[in-house]
Amino acid sequence: MINKIVEDQSIFFAGQKTKDVNFRKQALQKLKKEILKFEDVICDALYEDFKKPKFESLATETQFVLSELQYVLNNIAIWSKPQRTSSNLVNFPSTSHIYSEPYGTVLIISPWNYPFLLSMSPLIGAIAAGNTAVVKPSELTPNTSKVITKIIANTFPKEYVTVVEGGVAVSQELLKQKWNYIFFTGSSRVGKIVYKSAAEHLTPVTLELSGKNPCIVDSSAKVKLAAKRIVWGKFLNAGQTCIASDYVLVHKKVKDKLISALQHNISKAFGKDIAHSKDFARIATVEHYQRLKEMLEGENILFGGDSNDEDRFIGPTLIDSPSDKSKVMEDEIFGPILPIISYETERDIEKYISSYGKPLGLYIFSTNKTFQKKIINRYSFGGGVINDTVMQITNKSIPFGGVGNSGIGGYHGKYSFDLFSHKKSILKRGNWLDVPLRYPPYSIPINWVKKMKHLF
Ligand code: NAD
Repeated sequence: MINKIVEDQSIFFAGQKTKDVNFRKQALQKLKKEILKFEDVICDALYEDFKKPKFESLATETQFVLSELQYVLNNIAIWSKPQRTSSNLVNFPSTSHIYSEPYGTVLIISPWNYPFLLSMSPLIGAIAAGNTAVVKPSELTPNTSKVITKIIANTFPKEYVTVVEGGVAVSQELLKQKWNYIFFTGSSRVGKIVYKSAAEHLTPVTLELSGKNPCIVDSSAKVKLAAKRIVWGKFLNAGQTCIASDYVLVHKKVKDKLISALQHNISKAFGKDIAHSKDFARIATVEHYQRLKEMLEGENILFGGDSNDEDRFIGPTLIDSPSDKSKVMEDEIFGPILPIISYETERDIEKYISSYGKPLGLYIFSTNKTFQKKIINRYSFGGGVINDTVMQITNKSIPFGGVGNSGIGGYHGKYSFDLFSHKKSILKRGNWLDVPLRYPPYSIPINWVKKMKHLF
């Protein structure tokens, strides 16, 4: 069944329909209409899956996707035109253009934490660039996956865009096929499996992976505002956000002030009885819930630490100075637990950041420009924000993606269009002049050839 889908999509792609920009625009318009029709159903499914608050479902999933869709619709005509660029002297007379060519059949594999957004956002880019696509949403958020399937089935013929639901076995079967591009969002562990499978067919990939994201609070920071923004970004989606702050590195001088401001903001956001707050999500699966609960064992809990097995609730939790060897500092936390670690010197910061792979996000709270620049230049990471968290993802004018351990490639807005397009370079030569110098028998003096670099 899976190889038939790939075969049908290859035939459809070869039919050249998707090369027409108006066809792509119509496809995106239809998708927009269908998403708007299903917006409440999507929110209900997200609630069923992990009690995602409606505000968060709208703000971080559907509205986010609709905004991306509109942006692409507004710009696709310009992006898809061949771009004229300069030619060099050795080619005189000539013109040069870059054509954006769709790769062909694209596979998109997505995770459970923003199940709608992370299926739709890459799909918009794939369609905009003129590809066909198969989306494999996460099996761990089954209600949302079902709605995604319905929306896509209502909008597109299967040979153009379709959804294949299923778990690891289905994902592996899909990865055995020959794709023209694979876009994967998920853990670094599975990212390696995807990369290996893609290598079999020399298929290009984008890997949107994970990382342990530091959040640095310098002594010059506006601590109260920093705390508010850290709390929002960390406990959104109950901490199940790939770019959430994983741990806070705070200057010793402002540690106490930061901790009390964090506590104050958690209480302000979710009230006294957080387990009954309608604004706080649950952990998506029992496995992740157990994993997070184990992280709390033996730690010095400054705030929270409460949990409820029945509905996989773990409250916003602050941990004081965990040991480097503790479970919470072993790997990406990916839940509502925030370790607070103090530092005195930049050497202390380095010790932490360099002991993990390159993070997906890094946050700097500081009013000291020299310090901000130093951190940005010193460390390699996907992207970040100065004086806020998570918000980098909302700006379509900057690429979103990781580096090293946290991924390969960046997308959103025009970056998505470019990512799903092969850039085909065409040099067009004029016929009215043909300088004979390059042809054998070579007759120009060697010391002239040594000056040839000026012609290239
Ligand atoms: P995951 O890697 O376990 O699964 C992602 C997808 O891969 C799912 O669709 C799953 O069915 C499939 N899959 C799982 N195991 C597989 C295997 N052995 N072979 C083939 N396919 C397999 O990730 P997850 O738990 O769904 O998502 C959470 C992870 O994703 C976190 O690590 C998070 O940081 C990361 N993430 C990254 C981004 C980003 O943009 N960089 C965004 C969201 C989540």
